[in-house]
Amino acid sequence: MPDVVVIGAGMVGAACAYYAAREGLSVTVLDRASVAGGTTGSGEGNVLVSDKEPGPELDLAVLSCRLWAELAAEAGEPGGFEHEPKGGLVVAESDEVLRALTELAGRQEKSGVATRPVAADELARYEPHLAPGFAGGVFYPQDAQVQPMLAAARLLRRWPGVALRTGTEVTGLLMDRGRVTGVRTSAGDIPAGAVVNAAGVWGGEVAALAGVTLPIMPRRGFILVTEPLTARADGRPLVRHKVYTAAYVTNVASDSEGLETSAVVEATQAGTVLIGASRERVGFDRTVSLPVLARLARQAVGLFPALADVRAIRAYCGFRPYCPDHLPVIGADPRAPGLYHACGHEGAGIGLAPVTGLLVARHLTGAVPELDLAPFRPDRFAGAAA
Ligand SMILES: Cc1cc2nc3c(=O)[nH]c(=O)nc-3n(C[C@H](O)[C@H](O)[C@H](O)COP(=O)(O)OP(=O)(O)OC[C@H]3O[C@@H](n4cnc5c(N)ncnc54)[C@H](O)[C@@H]3O)c2cc1C
Repeated sequence: MPDVVVIGAGMVGAACAYYAAREGLSVTVLDRASVAGGTTGSGEGNVLVSDKEPGPELDLAVLSCRLWAELAAEAGEPGGFEHEPKGGLVVAESDEVLRALTELAGRQEKSGVATRPVAADELARYEPHLAPGFAGGVFYPQDAQVQPMLAAARLLRRWPGVALRTGTEVTGLLMDRGRVTGVRTSAGDIPAGAVVNAAGVWGGEVAALAGVTLPIMPRRGFILVTEPLTARADGRPLVRHKVYTAAYVTNVASDSEGLETSAVVEATQAGTVLIGASRERVGFDRTVSLPVLARLARQAVGLFPALADVRAIRAYCGFRPYCPDHLPVIGADPRAPGLYHACGHEGAGIGLAPVTGLLVARHLTGAVPELDLAPFRPDRFAGAAA
């Protein structure tokens, strides 16, 4: 019998398994599909502190950035997951936006975020191919990037204490006098000391198996991928950092169901440029939306005019696991002892995966977690009684 069953082999489940095994626990990870076959395989790999308002999520992000760097150093290359601590550049379209951005950066610094103001005439030093006319920006050296599918696969393999079973669906939870004691699966029952719900956007469905509610909903996002670009004459890529406009921060925090787009542009090690991402709540509809892709493309060209001559080779979409207060659900569920949650990270589940795994492992072993988990409680939502 494993100490822990983790439901979900996405980035968050992989990080939970990694940190629990590092603590000496035996872990079985179950996924009804494949490793990174959920949202992890259909998003981007930004590890951002820049896009978060001060508060509990930013505290998670600051620690998680550090953990990503440690994990990457431990993995080394080859064998790593394309961790690039390249930094993020947020640009402002007007003086008024620049004032708001600078004010936000000042508040973020109090949470441990490093920020560097960038004057309009300095922007080209960071990004020589950026469009002219921006009022200035802020550079965030902690922002980084990983390849999420590689990262999930590599973390799952790191410790011998982790057993992975793909193609295995959890269809029920084993319960004994209100306590969760294991999982019922398409391949039989697996009793376990604890069960971690890392089912991402399907986290609410898994919670329901224990008779508890989690209001996790899909928030769709499209990504455009360009053809691989060759390095510029100076040997550097067209886009050197993660680059986005200040409007992105507002979009991320918005509660609107309607369509929102603000391009985030970044180069990958394969030479492609990723242009993300839209946000809209339309259920699990995968229908390709040309108007959304056109809008993303237009915004990206607005940042880097040279992209107008570059072909987009594909587009894909994924479903962010969205909670109404934009915070993930992390920790033990007091309504169903034995059940722990690690889901609902919306558009930050890659960035926040290591800190989530670490905090869950701390809970599982009874150690004191590095951060207060109260803001992420599973029973914080209205009508959350079992
Ligand atoms: C367009 C887009 C761009 C994004 N960009 C970023 C970004 O730049 N940075 C960032 O940090 N985040 C980003 N995100 C968000 C990020 O991708 C997610 O927050 C993250 O992937 C969630 O990971 P997860 O492991 O919780 O969920 P998932 O990767 O979805 O994994 C959950 C797994 O659970 C499995 N599962 C579900 N139910 C069951 C069951 N009953 N039995 C067995 N298995 C089950 C599924 O098969 C799935 O593999 C983006 C998302 C989108 C859509």
